[in-house]
Amino acid sequence: MKIEKLSKTKNKSVFLIKGIKNSIANAIRRSVYEIPILAIDSVEFYKNDSALYDEIIAQRLGLIPLKGDLKTFKRQENCSCEGKGCNKCIVSLKLKAKGPGTIYASELKGKGFEVIYPQMPIVVLAQDQELEFVADAKLGMGKEHAKFTPGILWFNAYPTVEISKECNSCGECIKTCPQKAISLQGNKIIIDPNKCDLCGACVEKCNNLKKAIKINASEEDFIFYIETFGQISSEEILIESVNALNENIRELSKKLEKSK
Ligand SMILES: [Zn+2]
Repeated sequence: MKIEKLSKTKNKSVFLIKGIKNSIANAIRRSVYEIPILAIDSVEFYKNDSALYDEIIAQRLGLIPLKGDLKTFKRQENCSCEGKGCNKCIVSLKLKAKGPGTIYASELKGKGFEVIYPQMPIVVLAQDQELEFVADAKLGMGKEHAKFTPGILWFNAYPTVEISKECNSCGECIKTCPQKAISLQGNKIIIDPNKCDLCGACVEKCNNLKKAIKINASEEDFIFYIETFGQISSEEILIESVNALNENIRELSKKLEKSK
């Protein structure tokens, strides 16, 4: 197996992973929903004069991405408090605000967390309207609720490109490609496999003219695209997905061993 980083921006990474099976690539993708992530899980309202019901505000609070210390923090059910809730597994937050004005995520107060997007609006309060609540955030997984998802991971098969002698470099494929993956270098047509998403538009166009382009999807090389919502980095999403997959396999083999 070989891994190559193709690109990296603040919230997105692209990796080429060579020499794995489609089923493994898909298992890694699905394991994103098994990474523990911090999110608000319960809210107790003292005052809510706003136009939104308590449960709508609670729903909006759950979806605010929070950063916590995931290394020292425990899942409530695995914590030494045995699920009762303590400062090792629960982060307490509070908010107290009075209108008029928009109340933003930056107004959430407490220790042990960081609001990743402080400018996310929670609710608009009119003159003298008040909002006051306390809330608990805990670690959960995307398979329990989407608010615990750290980002999205998807993959494409790596394209293998063949351009035959029939090609006369007419350039029609360059105009057709929506990914701008094709260019003319000298008088040769070059397709960048890192940009190609196998849509087949160039093959269709070329079939009407020369039938010079053939593109196939590799069965063992895949391009992984990972976009983070900010709780952990895009590289960590890939690493933690693989760790979660490993953990599940380890648990399965332990149970199989016991049932012998
Ligand atoms: Zn605890």
